[in-house]
Amino acid sequence: MSLSQGRSYLAIPGPSVMPDRVLQAMHRPAPNIYYGALEEMVHGILPDLRAVARTRHAATIYIGNGHAAWEAAIANVLAPGDRVLVLNTGHFAAGWGQMADGLGINVETLEFGKRGVVDPDQVEDRLRRDTAGAIKAVLVVQVDTASSVRNDVAAIRKAIDAANHPALFMVDCIASLACERFEMDAWDVDITVAACQKGLMTPPGLAFVFFNEKAAEARGKMARVSRYWDWVPRADPEIFPEHFCGTAPTHHLYGLREALNMILHEEGLEAVFARHKALSEMIWAACEVWGQDGGLEMNISDPDRRSHAVTSLRLPAPGGEQLRSWLEENAGVTLGIGLGMAPRTSPEIHGYFRIGHMGHVNAHMVMGVLGTMDAGMKALGLSHGTGALEAAASLAARA
Ligand SMILES: *Cc1c(COP(=O)(O)O)cnc(C)c1O
Repeated sequence: MSLSQGRSYLAIPGPSVMPDRVLQAMHRPAPNIYYGALEEMVHGILPDLRAVARTRHAATIYIGNGHAAWEAAIANVLAPGDRVLVLNTGHFAAGWGQMADGLGINVETLEFGKRGVVDPDQVEDRLRRDTAGAIKAVLVVQVDTASSVRNDVAAIRKAIDAANHPALFMVDCIASLACERFEMDAWDVDITVAACQKGLMTPPGLAFVFFNEKAAEARGKMARVSRYWDWVPRADPEIFPEHFCGTAPTHHLYGLREALNMILHEEGLEAVFARHKALSEMIWAACEVWGQDGGLEMNISDPDRRSHAVTSLRLPAPGGEQLRSWLEENAGVTLGIGLGMAPRTSPEIHGYFRIGHMGHVNAHMVMGVLGTMDAGMKALGLSHGTGALEAAASLAARA
């Protein structure tokens, strides 16, 4: 018998769970795209996006996913032949680097492994050796959604400064914005990229690029920039449609407006961060117990380095994939597949899976995921210790 009927939970690291309020806000006739209520709403959304990224600098919106934000950022400040330094911890910074490579940029990568964190000392050392200043930008992700590591953005900035290097500092917050603490201005990030379908709880389709004056100067020196990706008219349009280089993503904007209301004006950003942290700790507590006798293991061992948006797990192949399938077939819960941790066609990839816990997630959803994971391990005869759910519930009780 399957117990999967009922409300399903897509517990993958994006798209995340969409609040009904966000969906309902989108259910309406189209507004005029030239002036009026939509324009006013966008003029309210932009400062709220800045507030989420903790910046007073420019915010731009593109119709696109995270990959679009990657390309937009590169297209504004990097020209073919320029060199960038990619700091890879898992999967996603390398993906950003591939995007740059496709645009003719010379990509140099510092690898920190699939279970590692960016080491600021190595970054400083590499930049010190670049005495000619050939490296135009440093690219990193705050949270690598594949490994679930959380990099220390402030420490990487310090490393760049310690090397006295002029490179632009470009940070991917696609998985982490509105989940993890991120301080664009306080940490002196030059360009931040994000998207709407993770912490911002909105259906996939909006990409964001934030840039400061230093990045704007770099843009000013570009010989040419693709009209579509150019952030200049988007940030400072003469007429409203230039915000989007054409038709606005009308309904996504209604959804985003509602999501920002929930995050900023109702729960509050600090409370959102605290909730993500507390829910993560519940998940980790259960995982510790499940792993007591070997078997399940968290990909990132140091809790201080773990993301509060996603947790990557290992269960010797094919255990991970079996458990994932069991939950989908029997419990109405879909966990994330392992990504980039082993070759896609190799048997080892079936040892990896992920729990997405970003955005519109609360204690009962997390307990539901953990409870059904526990059931799945029992059903599959996988070693799972004793008291995992008790450990998670105790933390929920104390929070
Ligand atoms: C999801 C994600 C991306 C890619 O976003 P898409 O919307 O799938 O293009 C890039 N970087 C990080 C860190 C992500 O989590």
